[in-house]
Amino acid sequence: MAGLIPESIIEDVRRAADIVEVISEVVVLKPAGRNLVGLCPFHNEKTPSFTVSPEKQIFHCFGCGQGGNVFAFTMQHQGISFPEAVRALAERYHISIPDTARDGASANGADQRARLQAANALALEFYRKALAHPVQGQPARDYLSRRGLSAALIQAFQLGFAPPGWDHLARFLKGRRVPDAVAEKAGLIAPRQSGSGFYDRFRGRIIFPIIDLSGKVAGFGGRVLDDSLPKYLNSPETPLYNKRRCLYGLYQARDHCRAKKAVYIVEGYLDLLALHQYGIANAVATLGTALTAEQVALLKRFVGSGDIVLVFDGDAAGQKAAERTRPIFEQLHSRFQPGSYQRESGVNTRVLELPGGHDPDTFLREKGAEAFTALAAKAKGMVAFLIDAALRQHGDTIEGRALAVGELVGPLQAVSDPVTRSLYVKLLAERVGVDEAAIARRLSRGGTHRPAPVSGEPRAGVPERLPAIERQLTAMMIQYPEVLPDIDKRNLTSYFKNLQLKAVAEAVLIHYRESGTADGVIERLADPQLQRLAAALAIREEQWTVSGCRQLIAQFVRARSRPSREMLDAIAQAEQAADDGRWQQLLLERQKAARQGERTRRKLLNR
Ligand SMILES: [Zn+2]
Repeated sequence: MAGLIPESIIEDVRRAADIVEVISEVVVLKPAGRNLVGLCPFHNEKTPSFTVSPEKQIFHCFGCGQGGNVFAFTMQHQGISFPEAVRALAERYHISIPDTARDGASANGADQRARLQAANALALEFYRKALAHPVQGQPARDYLSRRGLSAALIQAFQLGFAPPGWDHLARFLKGRRVPDAVAEKAGLIAPRQSGSGFYDRFRGRIIFPIIDLSGKVAGFGGRVLDDSLPKYLNSPETPLYNKRRCLYGLYQARDHCRAKKAVYIVEGYLDLLALHQYGIANAVATLGTALTAEQVALLKRFVGSGDIVLVFDGDAAGQKAAERTRPIFEQLHSRFQPGSYQRESGVNTRVLELPGGHDPDTFLREKGAEAFTALAAKAKGMVAFLIDAALRQHGDTIEGRALAVGELVGPLQAVSDPVTRSLYVKLLAERVGVDEAAIARRLSRGGTHRPAPVSGEPRAGVPERLPAIERQLTAMMIQYPEVLPDIDKRNLTSYFKNLQLKAVAEAVLIHYRESGTADGVIERLADPQLQRLAAALAIREEQWTVSGCRQLIAQFVRARSRPSREMLDAIAQAEQAADDGRWQQLLLERQKAARQGERTRRKLLNR
């Protein structure tokens, strides 16, 4: 599984890396006994079931079943392969990997990302130099200073300028030996439609680099200096840039979001920079899309169960904000969304509509940061906001109220959690002055009812289908290695019936024979499913005693030497059906099995 990275280096990286440190960057962890817990980054949840063991250097989520060591976390979280994860952690902990350690197939993905990142880094350098250029950058600097952005902020967000002209960047990248194909893949240049060659995607625009959580450029946004169209242009989707997952400014805002347990979400680059300019640094911007469930899950890692506040420009009817909020609301509450996000789960999502036609920039200039935060403190929950917006739009008359109810049927039907839905129905009933039951009836005949999910629930930490006794034995072997010599001597694991548990248990034994410990056994398991299983078994805090272990082993021996349940059932059935031939045949088989069982028992006990 390690590709060509030497085992000894993988071991060095494992020892150097601290899983708590790595996970703390993305999950707020709190102590719970000997472990730490937090909200799972892999599924959406209200109460923390994501558990990290500093002692064992593993994690396990009791909600969705993800688990493993620091490599597994890095792989799953960043969506990269094992060698890539080893390299990423090696880099972080300053462990060098010899150049010869190249892993063919999976290195290609890493290589490609690295090449695209390098191209983006060069492009950023080019754009920043152009902004700083005394002549070339003048119009852009003038524009930014008219917008009230300080030099410090321009520096912190690494703003740049793409000068007008067709191929300044294309030629610069060529000079730095970036292949055209790489620059094209990074979305920096595009092939000319007539003739050959490439032209720059961004021309005559202020450049806003979109930085990912590792601090590298994922993509760019660009804004024109005048009123020409399109006003904004973003990088296309690339292996580095996915607009449903990225948030502009999150890299710069993350610590502030954590500290304030709240985040403001605005729609544009300049809105975001205005907030930062006025000291409201816990703010991010979406990139030309409505807020997605993926982005909410990402933000939850930083704000925990705190507030996510959508900030909208004020306009006459508030209709635009409502139109934008509705799909977000449905998306957050529906379990029928791509990915594993089940429902809104514990996110306190609110809507802040700025008054009097203000956008964040004009509001802050006129009223200041304190007025903004005071207004934000009164921001409405999403449903309350949608109800008020509908009433405003349709008027507070009988007909208007009926129309408002009709408008909210769709969004409320999308709420998959019945408790949440009934609370919202109650709220709507109160605001509109209609009987709750009438609204509930309207919801149930709404016509766009979605089908019930077949298997929407998350997988449990340890699948309950696993045979209990083999599961316990394997957990005991990992948690209480003192028992391993005995298990090894009796060759107990060869009698395991569940193949997954057998694979884990045997890996524990092999690892123990070689290293004298059960620590680090997870690296031995190439299969991520087995890694998850081993982590799930290891992280439970069970107390083992010598006598408890003996009892468990004895129970296993008895179970393996008894005739099986299926056989006893088959005999009883044959007897009831008066099928004498079958009955006699089964009895013979049972005798044979009993002799076999006795041999098994002796072997298990005497070895
Ligand atoms: Zn989970």
